[in-house]
Amino acid sequence: MRTLISGGTVVTATEIMQADVLIEDETVVAISAPVEGGRSGTDTTASPDQVIDATGKYVFPGGVDVHTHMELPFGGTYASDTFETGTRAAAFGGTTTLIDFAVQTIGEPMMDGYDEWMAKADGECAIDYGFHMIVSDVNEQTLKEMDILMGEGVTSFKLFMAYPGVLYSTDGQIFQAMQKAADNGATIMMHAENGIVIDVLREQALARGETDPIYHSVTRPPVTEAEATHRAIAYAELAGSPLYVVHLSAKEALDEVVAARDRGANVFAETCPQYLFLGWKNLAEPGFEGAKYVCSTPVRSEDQGHQEALWRGLATNDLQVVSTDHCPFCMNDHPTLGTQKQLGVGDFTKIPNGLPGVEERFTMMYYGAIDQHRLSLNRFVEIIASTPAKMFGLYPKKGTIAIGSDADIVIFDPGTSQTISADTIHMDVDYTCYEGTEVQGKVDTVLSRGRTIIENGEYLGAKGDGQYLKRGTNQCLI
Ligand SMILES: [Zn+2]
Repeated sequence: MRTLISGGTVVTATEIMQADVLIEDETVVAISAPVEGGRSGTDTTASPDQVIDATGKYVFPGGVDVHTHMELPFGGTYASDTFETGTRAAAFGGTTTLIDFAVQTIGEPMMDGYDEWMAKADGECAIDYGFHMIVSDVNEQTLKEMDILMGEGVTSFKLFMAYPGVLYSTDGQIFQAMQKAADNGATIMMHAENGIVIDVLREQALARGETDPIYHSVTRPPVTEAEATHRAIAYAELAGSPLYVVHLSAKEALDEVVAARDRGANVFAETCPQYLFLGWKNLAEPGFEGAKYVCSTPVRSEDQGHQEALWRGLATNDLQVVSTDHCPFCMNDHPTLGTQKQLGVGDFTKIPNGLPGVEERFTMMYYGAIDQHRLSLNRFVEIIASTPAKMFGLYPKKGTIAIGSDADIVIFDPGTSQTISADTIHMDVDYTCYEGTEVQGKVDTVLSRGRTIIENGEYLGAKGDGQYLKRGTNQCLI
């Protein structure tokens, strides 16, 4: 099967070129100057089986979202997107690879959690996927299992300095995991918030009758993120392991990352669209509407310069990746999961932490980067596809358009505008954080390993098309 994408503008992290892309089966086999009549410039003897006309459109590598939580158990319920619905929504939005998180249960082997999540995703996914491992219980056996998982292509391990009694690890446990990572080549991912101090602030707020959604952010002030980020960096440098700080939202935490990178440390960080576009005006929406935007780390006050600092960090490569932390919960009852966000009416500490975003990331980041003139086209591709693939050992199979790469491709129409709305999303959740936002540009056609899975607003794939990705180690190390 030969497919020619003709007449488009191919954009990678380093190039912008008028070029045709020839795909054979699942792989890009040629990128050539445009040729009349739908024939590839490199092989004029064989006509393609199908030609996709991309005239006037961008031809981007498929998005790589390295932080999602399909079906995650949290706060007495489950994230509402399954691997089936969540990966299909990702495809609609221009994401063709995602990395989700398998979770270790405290007191149980890490491999059990890995097997459980592998079974959940098996045969369900619309796009290719891999797993990071959430380490909830660092002990001698867990440390040995980190070596085993490296052999399974799980090369990154996430620890929590937040959520005492649930996912929290002590400093000693974190340091031991980092020492293991320094030894076996893994990357440590960190949820960097001081959960011990945050728990004190939350109890005090509730005692004062401060129960509305906005207090979720008030009780997680920037210093609790910055302090934890500083501490995680210090331990990672001492242990000699790479560190990747997830969902960075406070400018003070970014300052810590900048200082570490200036010292030459292997310290990296991602942010998410919610921290670039949302703030306290959203959390303070009337009634209980603010619950839509409750996630951790929290969206922050617009008055403190966080959003500007994060955009600057993306421009200067102090931040390397934009992921979503997609973890949706319905505002109104979910058909099978029942009450979700409403669990926290009258007590913000009971609102499930998380929001939807896997579908809007590509379009919202194009909007912020290109429509709003903050980043170049190349940098846009770099932060949503190329660097995430490199950071987690998938490049150049994923994250670029090059000869030999998987034909994961998004044809994007910059000439069409759209209004983001809950009425048109495909995620299994009843709202979008970006309701009413008018954006220029629209995902037109999506290919996953050479197969057209999105065309004319229709999903043409099938669940189970997506394959598990055994990943290599971090390709961004200095
Ligand atoms: Zn997360």
